Amino acid sequence: MTCKRCRSDSHSVFNGETAIHFLGLKGLDKPIVWVFSKLAVCLECGFTEFTIPERELSVLATGEAVAGAVVLDKKVARSLAA
Ligand SMILES: [Zn+2]
Repeated sequence: MTCKRCRSDSHSVFNGETAIHFLGLKGLDKPIVWVFSKLAVCLECGFTEFTIPERELSVLATGEAVAGAVVLDKKVARSLAA
């Protein structure tokens, strides 16, 4: 595999845990989505690629939590705290 950023062939694959947040103040009311994917990391420049599974991708597309996705949904967290 050749790096799309620096054209290096020096890369490795790692297990990753990534928390994805929506941007801006409106993002504070949207779920935080955890993705557990393989990360392909360029060892020269740090450029990293990974694929978001379909279920977690639907949370990012809609801003709404779905069953089975690992998310922190503040609407749910607030209702559980009450
Ligand atoms: Zn690179």
